[in-house]
Amino acid sequence: MSETKTHILEWLRDAHAMEQQAEKTLIATNERLQHYPDFKARVELHLEETRGQARLLEQAIAARGGDTSTLKDFAGRMAARFQGVGAMMAEDEVVKLAIAAYHFEHLEIASYQCLIAAAKATGDADLAEICHAILPQEQAMADWMSTQIPLITRDYLVREQEGVESKR
Ligand code: MG
Ligand code: FE
Repeated sequence: MSETKTHILEWLRDAHAMEQQAEKTLIATNERLQHYPDFKARVELHLEETRGQARLLEQAIAARGGDTSTLKDFAGRMAARFQGVGAMMAEDEVVKLAIAAYHFEHLEIASYQCLIAAAKATGDADLAEICHAILPQEQAMADWMSTQIPLITRDYLVREQEGVESKR
C-alpha cells in the first residue's frame, strides 16, 4: 500500500473515532438539556446525522481493507484528546456545551477538508463523494451553533436573572 493510501486509511479511522466521540457527546448533551428546546432539537437532528456518518466511514474503512477491530483503540485515543467537556460540572453548563459543540464541529470540518484533499490527490472518487456528503452536515451544525451561541447566552442570563432554572 502506498504511503498516501496508508495516510487515508489512518485519517478515515481518526474520523471514525471522532464520530464515535461526537455521538457520545451529542447523546450526553441531549440527555442533559432541559430548558433550551431549540438547542436540544438541533442536537437530536445532528445525532442522527452523526450515526449515518459513522456508518459511511465504517464502510469506507472496510472497503480499503482496514481492520475495524482496532477502531476501539482509536476511539479511546481520540476521546482522551478531545474530551473538552468538563462543561457538565459548570454552573453555566448550557453555555459551555454550546461552545464545546461549536469547537467540535470545526474539528470535524477540518478533518473532512483534509480527507477531501487526500481524495483529490489520489483520484479517489468514492472517498470524495462520502466526504462531500458529510461535510455540509458539519458545516450546517457549525453555522447553527454560531448563530445560536449569542441567543443561548442571552437566554441563560435572562433565566438566571429571573431566578428560574438556567443551568441546562
Ligand atoms: Mg460528524
Ligand atoms: Fe458533527
